[in-house]
Amino acid sequence: SKDAGGGTFHCYEPQLHVQAEERRVLEMALRKALQNGEMHLNYQPVVAADTGELTGFEALLRWIHPEFGNISPVKFVPLAEDARLIAPIGEWVLRTACEEATRWNHPVRVAVNVSPEQLHNPAFVAVVASALAQSGLPADRLELEVTESVFMKEGTCAIQVLEKILDMGVRLSLDDFGTGYSSLGYLSRTRFSSIKIDRSFVQGASQGVPEAIAIIRAVVALAQSLGMATTAEGVETEAEHLMVQDLGCSKVQGYYFGRPLPVEEARAIVNHGQRD
Ligand code: C2E
Ligand code: CA
Ligand code: CA
Ligand code: CA
Repeated sequence: SKDAGGGTFHCYEPQLHVQAEERRVLEMALRKALQNGEMHLNYQPVVAADTGELTGFEALLRWIHPEFGNISPVKFVPLAEDARLIAPIGEWVLRTACEEATRWNHPVRVAVNVSPEQLHNPAFVAVVASALAQSGLPADRLELEVTESVFMKEGTCAIQVLEKILDMGVRLSLDDFGTGYSSLGYLSRTRFSSIKIDRSFVQGASQGVPEAIAIIRAVVALAQSLGMATTAEGVETEAEHLMVQDLGCSKVQGYYFGRPLPVEEARAIVNHGQRD
């Protein structure tokens, strides 16, 4: 910036300052968000692709700041990871989801997103055990969603951590499949119950993009041969539903079946929709 000749450089500088300042302000707010009760969970239905039967809910974190309003997890989760705040926040998510799920009348599953940072810490095993014990939620009703990036870090204990959690009877699903790292070795070494196919492929397939169709077909075949289910994510239309059903996906999730809902509304769906 001291270089008078760098005109374009000067142009970008204020923008960078704003971003850094925004990050700093958000990070400070994030440090107090939990204790101030600014966070809650929404629950999005996951249903069987063929029958439409409800199989569970994915818990999605929401942060409503009194001044800044609703802040997307796409924005604050990476910030929490960088600021080493994801462990306490993630623990709160897990405990809250387990407790709220015990109050649903029917034994549908609850899926909780877990950041790689949480799995690189051996203490996470005890956190999961404690969340189950304190809530009384049976282990097989909890599903953890992890992304491929977990397996990228060298020397991580994440695989052993996952093994111990699997041994408790908790299920595991592989989130955002196909968007990240693509070595498939970990797929055969880790006992996933399902692979979640990212919305980008679902969208592409229903628009007739041959590569997207080929990828979904291949993932479904791979999952089937490994004894895993597939969940198509971000299904927004009937056409997308028919397409992924036709391609053999076992479960579907997306706005077409239901948006992420406040816990009371999720509970009403479970208790009403499955009363028999
Ligand atoms: P994700 O785990 O892939 O979650 C699915 C996202 O897709 C959610 O966005 C959901 O609201 C959105 N979605 C669902 N159906 C549709 C659809 O039909 N169309 C479209 N366009 N979008 C749909 P959300 O809630 O904003 O969460 C974004 C991401 O933030 C999540 O992606 C996940 O990576 C992260 N996240 C959310 N909650 C948590 C959490 O408790 N812990 C961690 N570590 N990450 C979380
Ligand atoms: Ca997820
Ligand atoms: Ca996903
Ligand atoms: Ca995603």
